[in-house]
Amino acid sequence: MPSVLLSGDSALLKQLNRAAILRLVRRAPGIARAELSRRTGLTKATVSTLVQELELEGWLRAGTPQHAGSGRPATPLYLDDTRLVLVGAELGADYRNAVALDLTGRILSQRYARTDHAGPEAALAALATDLEAVLAEERVRTRRVVGLGVAVPGPVHAGSGRMPVAPNLGWTDVPVRDLMDARLHSPTLEGTLLHVENEANAGALTESIFGIHPLDGPLVYLSLGVGVGGGIVMGDRVFHGYGGYAGEIGHLTLLPDGPGCRCGTRGCAEALIGQRAISAAAGSPDLSVDDLLSRLRAGDPATHAAVQRAGEYLGILISNLIHTFNPQMVVLGGPLAELGDALLEPACQEARRRGLHRLVEQAQIRRCRYGRDAGAIGAAARALHAALSPAMPEPASWAEHMGEPV
Ligand SMILES: [Zn+2]
Repeated sequence: MPSVLLSGDSALLKQLNRAAILRLVRRAPGIARAELSRRTGLTKATVSTLVQELELEGWLRAGTPQHAGSGRPATPLYLDDTRLVLVGAELGADYRNAVALDLTGRILSQRYARTDHAGPEAALAALATDLEAVLAEERVRTRRVVGLGVAVPGPVHAGSGRMPVAPNLGWTDVPVRDLMDARLHSPTLEGTLLHVENEANAGALTESIFGIHPLDGPLVYLSLGVGVGGGIVMGDRVFHGYGGYAGEIGHLTLLPDGPGCRCGTRGCAEALIGQRAISAAAGSPDLSVDDLLSRLRAGDPATHAAVQRAGEYLGILISNLIHTFNPQMVVLGGPLAELGDALLEPACQEARRRGLHRLVEQAQIRRCRYGRDAGAIGAAARALHAALSPAMPEPASWAEHMGEPV
């Protein structure tokens, strides 16, 4: 075998082993080297070498050695939350959000603004300015940036960082990475690759990487807002599908003769449970989530009925997804998740009373604990995922088909 392949393979193997160690420390803070060796199957010497490297680079820190029995004291290992920083931002349909996080997912600095975007160039320029402000803060600028990601409300061609279409903004063919790169000047970003990801996929990564529950099976994330999208994580990777469009669950048909959808058909999930649909059913077009919340608090019967009905359709959608993916977890995120129990209780009840009992019982349905920050944190999680996971080529079909009309 040519030596170049051998060195490539050994570098890949090392990256895989480092990622495995970091994943185990994240799942079991305080784990010791001997246990890492047992769980990874690596020799103790290899584990020690890799842990030493990861400590030097700022990924891991050692705690106080613990005596257990008569053997040598074991040193607990933790993710180091003091030296590295992850940076993520989301361009939402009517807001922008930029965050800096430590390795455990804790927000160190943030800029959030509700806004009507003038156009892609101006919107991304404003997002870049927010990111620069986040990076300039004292507790961030003293750290090394290990990842930078941006989440957007449309499908993304990962190779070029281009968004072929943003349906709810009416934009087409936006070179997100190029536009952001041209606007980001902070020296701390020198040499950092910007990762662009669809916001629902980013939300799914937020839960799989920073969620408090270890994940052993598929995770389905629902992004509920003006658009309705889905992100599916299987085996530690986002499922992108043949053309890169997997997860467009907003256009699953829930009611064949239902209301018209912007995709041209009728009765899609988005036309029944999207923000505009709920707003119209509540009797007033273009209500914000805050408007809907205040109407709910004021006991407005039309809004209660609209949210209840949307919740029931959401339950049907969740039931369909549970039967398709047999997920360990279904996470509900996006702005509409802020409506809380008024939306989520009817959804859970409807999902639980449909289909195969065992399948439905296996899936935990929970609200995303990151609220409106899920997309921005997820963008940072996407960058962390890329930093830790060996590069895998995307399917050729994805690059070929990306940008075709959907
Ligand atoms: Zn549709």
